[in-house]
Amino acid sequence: IPVDDFDLVIFGGTGDLARRKILPGLYRRFCAGQMPPTARIIGAARSEHDTEEFRRIVRAAILEFSSKHSCDEALIGDFLKRLDYVQVDARGEDGWDALKGMMRDDVIKAYYFSVAPSLFGDIAERLMSHGIADDKARIVVEKPFGRDLKTAKALNRDLAKHFDETQIYRIDHYLGKETVQNLMAVRFGNILFEPLWNSQYVDHIQITVAETVGVGGRGEYYDRSGAMRDMVQNHLMQLLCLIAMEPPSRFEPDSVRDEKLKVIRALEPIDHHHIVRGQYDATDDEPSYREDAGDPRSRTESFIALRCMISNWRWAGTPFFLRTGKKLKARNSEIAVVFKDAPHSIFGEEAGRHANLLSIRLQPNEGMTLKVTIKEPGPGGMRLIDVPLDMSFAEALGEDAEEITDAYERLIMDVIRGNQTLFMRGDEVEAAWAWTDPLIESWEARGDVPKPYEAYSSGPEEAAIMLHREGRRWREIK
Ligand code: NAD
Repeated sequence: IPVDDFDLVIFGGTGDLARRKILPGLYRRFCAGQMPPTARIIGAARSEHDTEEFRRIVRAAILEFSSKHSCDEALIGDFLKRLDYVQVDARGEDGWDALKGMMRDDVIKAYYFSVAPSLFGDIAERLMSHGIADDKARIVVEKPFGRDLKTAKALNRDLAKHFDETQIYRIDHYLGKETVQNLMAVRFGNILFEPLWNSQYVDHIQITVAETVGVGGRGEYYDRSGAMRDMVQNHLMQLLCLIAMEPPSRFEPDSVRDEKLKVIRALEPIDHHHIVRGQYDATDDEPSYREDAGDPRSRTESFIALRCMISNWRWAGTPFFLRTGKKLKARNSEIAVVFKDAPHSIFGEEAGRHANLLSIRLQPNEGMTLKVTIKEPGPGGMRLIDVPLDMSFAEALGEDAEEITDAYERLIMDVIRGNQTLFMRGDEVEAAWAWTDPLIESWEARGDVPKPYEAYSSGPEEAAIMLHREGRRWREIK
């Protein structure tokens, strides 16, 4: 369904994120016929380019970052005609009046802040002082949204000076993933799961976001944040909220976000026995985390595993294990709901027991698997095995997996439609930092040193031990 006509300004339109994700994503929406033929995209950045050069940059980005079969020269040509460029300095006054002159009056206006967060306040202020944005305009802001509660509050305050909360779209691309939205469809569109979705039937839940890449060239930058700030406070926390929240009364922005906020506020503090932090070791030909970070004494974690508890009626007693890290064995993101054993085996213990498990895969190959117990086929008597009921979205939808995995394009279309459901509200972000800050402060105060782990492994041994202590085990990263 095509969206209404719009002018979208991308601040930082020549940057890495714009070239890798935002612009190729918009091109795919254009190809899908979702972008009205008159819609316009205006790149705005400090670099000295004109529109022709910007179009060349975008063309190269589409060829590099869109899957091959969507690269049709004629379509790319038509898409590029929708593009303009304006040179602006977020911290100066140059270029803003030119930008104003480019904007049309009677269409939806959206401003994507794909720049460093230190520029958010400057851009918001100039959009207003130059009379470019009005009270219907939408702004999209990228992560990181602060590095602690204090900085997040300051960012929220800077934006709130000029824009109402209903105009602010804080993006977390994990929420735009097909599987994440499907998680809500599975939970709230079926009668099967929700009655079992509580501590009476769920033994525990695991959320894993494993990456194979190290911090590489971004080492020094990454060293100022670490896995907790970079991944847990935002992406893993969002996944945790969606899996744990109460059913919202409607699939509407504030209904959903009110429920997510309640989950964050119900998170218990974690003591240090239930947090494992790690740093990857060097291999024969690749540097260690500390070498990548350029600091031989760095105490920043490239891996973290946590055992979280949610103090509410539904989840009391069910642990949520969160784990994320760099240079792990495989690129794999998964939410696994591990159900309890059936209360009694009528087949006897020798038949074997298998707990049901629902696995929701975010990458690679988005999809879901439900493990159910059946009889082992054949004449060998009543032995039980578990088999997967498997659904891969790529296969089910008959599309190229690459095409459905990209979340940015879906979220940008939600911005144009004015739907904030899959965007973080200011109070959610602050609540997440309010939970995260004391954990970070406590390990900093203790002088905690991350445990070394072998590169391309499953992380430090201590993370496995944390679960073994209570008779559980991590899902294999594969
Ligand atoms: P980048 O350094 O590649 O690009 C920055 C862009 O901002 C460039 O277009 C540059 O011209 C513009 N810019 C810089 N200073 C400016 C100024 N004073 N006035 C106007 N424009 C200015 O950065 P990036 O990797 O594209 O990241 C942009 C934002 O997105 C950052 O907040 C980053 O944390 C966030 N982010 C990036 C990624 C990613 O994969 N690159 C992922 C998630 C979030």
